[in-house]
Amino acid sequence: MIQISPDSIAERFMRYVKVDTQSDPTGTSHPTSEKQKDLSKMLWQELLGMGITNATTDEYGYVYATIASNSDKKNIPAICFCAHVDTAPDCSGTNVKPILHRYYDGKDIVLPDDNTQVLRMADSPYLKNHLNSGVITSSGTTLLGADDKSGVAAIMEAALYFIQYPAVKHGDIKILFTPDEEVGQGTAKVDMQKLGAQFGYTMDGGEAGSLEDETFSADGAAITVNGVITHPGYAKGKLVNALKVAGAILDALPKKEWSPETTEKREGFVHPTAVNGIAEKATIQFIVRDFTTDGLQRHHERLKKISEETVEKFPGATMEYKTIEQYRNMKEVLDKHPQVAAYAEEAIQRAGLTVKKESIRGGTDGSRFSYIGMPCPNIFTGMQNIHSKLEWISIKDMAKAAETIVHLGMIWEEKS
Ligand SMILES: [Zn+2]
Repeated sequence: MIQISPDSIAERFMRYVKVDTQSDPTGTSHPTSEKQKDLSKMLWQELLGMGITNATTDEYGYVYATIASNSDKKNIPAICFCAHVDTAPDCSGTNVKPILHRYYDGKDIVLPDDNTQVLRMADSPYLKNHLNSGVITSSGTTLLGADDKSGVAAIMEAALYFIQYPAVKHGDIKILFTPDEEVGQGTAKVDMQKLGAQFGYTMDGGEAGSLEDETFSADGAAITVNGVITHPGYAKGKLVNALKVAGAILDALPKKEWSPETTEKREGFVHPTAVNGIAEKATIQFIVRDFTTDGLQRHHERLKKISEETVEKFPGATMEYKTIEQYRNMKEVLDKHPQVAAYAEEAIQRAGLTVKKESIRGGTDGSRFSYIGMPCPNIFTGMQNIHSKLEWISIKDMAKAAETIVHLGMIWEEKS
């Protein structure tokens, strides 16, 4: 029986959320904001303090550490647990004051520093699962930072457990903390060689028991329209305005389907994100999303056909269509290594929870890791209402996430 104390993980978590680590979407350096390194350094020091002497941190703000195998078996794959230190730019992360509501009684929680911020069970029904136990909120003026300091805390607490209980057998456990996940740069400067893991798990998911092994596949598309330009005073019958052609293309897109605002679950979409141009030349940028690469291909073909048919109505105008590959559904990789998700399911069950398999209508660092050599599904930590002032987390869920990590270490050892 693996048991991790909700109180000790809560204490750890509350220490980490007080460190301001907001990443900067406009930043061009790595990390995008220097302050992320404050937490990286703290984690590095704490790992050293646990006796994990190989722990390092680098100029980009990554933290790497290995808890060496204590098993006689030599063929156990090295498994990585990964979480991000940064918080989302959507909401302030400065001067976070976490509050532990020790025995949540089901009543509205009015956040003291801004009493317009009220956490209600009616809006957050998952609170029902946590009556009479501990939940942590912010004080109302900032986000909490459970995304993803709950993942950081779960990994640190599990690391301590491995060190304190050598009877728990495991292979090499790799720890990785990354900066800049929230601004899409989490894997930008990661050194996979140095990490040396075969399989990984990001600890960056929601409700207890949830396991996400599927993400969107993502492309960008750019349609460039070339108009015909002449002096506007003498343009009759000659001028073709690229901006008007671009407008017509946008208008020709379906209105009741095929967009983020009209799709859900496993449906894909096409979404214009920017229009730039002058009368002579205009470009429309799109994001294209689906769960399969074939689906992406079909969306591209359809978008191209609609655009070409529209441009044909403007004699003289021409267009180019460009596809930009972004990331791919991690499932295409994970299906080749079914044990990665299967062991995660078993670990969640051994922690006493029911597995909820989910797919993400977005990307994670795990999708990128899966395509750079480390198949990597995403595991719950309990985080709720992320990127907002009403963010909260249950201390029990966090402890269960840490227990799941310990079970995973043991399962990989047992089955190798
Ligand atoms: Zn996250």
